[in-house]
Amino acid sequence: MSLEKADALVVKSVYFSESSLILNVFTREMGKVRGIAKGARRLKNPFETSLDLLASIRLSFIKKNSDALDVFTEAKLRRRFRPTSRNLRGLYAGYYVAELLDFGTEDYEPFPDLWTLADATLERFQFRENVGARLAYFEAGFLKALGLFPSVRACVDCGEKLPLDRMTNLDRRIFFDVCSGGVVCTRCCETKQHFGMVSTTVGALKVFDASLVGSEKTLDVARTLENWRRALEEEATGISSIARLEREAQIRQAFEALDDETLTLYESFPPCARVAYRDLVGKYVCQVLRRRPRSLDWLPFALARQSSKQPEESTLEAQPSGSTP
Ligand SMILES: [Zn+2]
Repeated sequence: MSLEKADALVVKSVYFSESSLILNVFTREMGKVRGIAKGARRLKNPFETSLDLLASIRLSFIKKNSDALDVFTEAKLRRRFRPTSRNLRGLYAGYYVAELLDFGTEDYEPFPDLWTLADATLERFQFRENVGARLAYFEAGFLKALGLFPSVRACVDCGEKLPLDRMTNLDRRIFFDVCSGGVVCTRCCETKQHFGMVSTTVGALKVFDASLVGSEKTLDVARTLENWRRALEEEATGISSIARLEREAQIRQAFEALDDETLTLYESFPPCARVAYRDLVGKYVCQVLRRRPRSLDWLPFALARQSSKQPEESTLEAQPSGSTP
């Protein structure tokens, strides 16, 4: 047994007995950890009521050497996940991120970059719009971290290049094998058996491709923000509270400008390409996880929901993506 400390996101929480919770958390340092938080449901507890789903916390726990659950001993809240009541798309996208992290990763297999990306994505879901773009970037980063980002620029069987940059008709149909993880050229389609074949579009593949770049940019911005915040903590002791508030406002403004730049990649695609992407990524994620995340039943409808702040995505409503293989 050893006492550990880690930055963690709560990705699953179930009641256990009258006073305890059993939790799955995704940590920066050690990947997924499963444990019991004894007394967490009591009024007075060492977790400061910080164990809500998708809360970002600093966790202390006793790591067991056997198969038994680890024991969570203390937690301090870094950030609660509470999108505003009008932000349903942020809420359901958050649930979906929790399921991807929970189902897609193994115990004690660390993915520090994926943790940073997830933490940054969840923070943005709460207070900023453009959930569709941020979700696509997270999905790309998630698949890349697992080594399962699909082949979108070359046939997954024979390696023949797909000239994606030169293809301008976004509605052109392309075959994609969700089992093999990539596009399939016409020749391989005719000569080989494919068990996970779906039809997608050039637009969907372009969104997939751009989302990988978007996820790297999001990660860069998240790291920059972390460095700024750390520097502010160090200089905070020597400055007045008003000067600190001014510095925080400057940091927030600079961060938002950088963050907005990342969105242009996704926003350059028309709704037809985004809809085709959501359909394809949903099917591929189900195959990767070998199960269908429950949140995938609601997510397309939440993303399609009319929002006074984001009318540009309302066209998604015409064709919600539902079916999976
Ligand atoms: Zn081929």
